[in-house]
Amino acid sequence: MSYDPNNIFAKILRGEAPAVRIYEDADTLAFMDIMPEADGHVLVIPKEPAEDLLALSEAGAQAAIATTRRLTIAVKHAMGASGVRVAQFNGADVGQTVPHCHFHIVPHVPGAPRRN
Ligand code: 5GP
Repeated sequence: MSYDPNNIFAKILRGEAPAVRIYEDADTLAFMDIMPEADGHVLVIPKEPAEDLLALSEAGAQAAIATTRRLTIAVKHAMGASGVRVAQFNGADVGQTVPHCHFHIVPHVPGAPRRN
């Protein structure tokens, strides 16, 4: 699969589509998921144009995982979560719907409703 520069996350990166951005650095961007599985569901993406983790460079993976780790800590603290699920899918056959590499951060707050 080759990278599709018209995918929605590429448009968010270019500022062509709206998103609630919560963190950005030279290599990564994080924003709120538009259809959250739970309140506080964050997505982390590398800026590198890679459709999935397998296509991402070593440096891109290091940056994306470092941001995911930092934001997992921040989201857990901000939401008062008892646990946090971090998920990442590679390929439509395993549920990837947006073909730009991304990491889900989904906090679990006891008693809070699931959104999806
Ligand atoms: P996947 O199923 O590919 O692992 O996850 C894609 C995620 O992107 C889904 O959780 C979905 O809700 C989210 N998403 C899809 N389109 C948009 C969008 O336009 N904006 C935002 N913020 N999230 C999106």
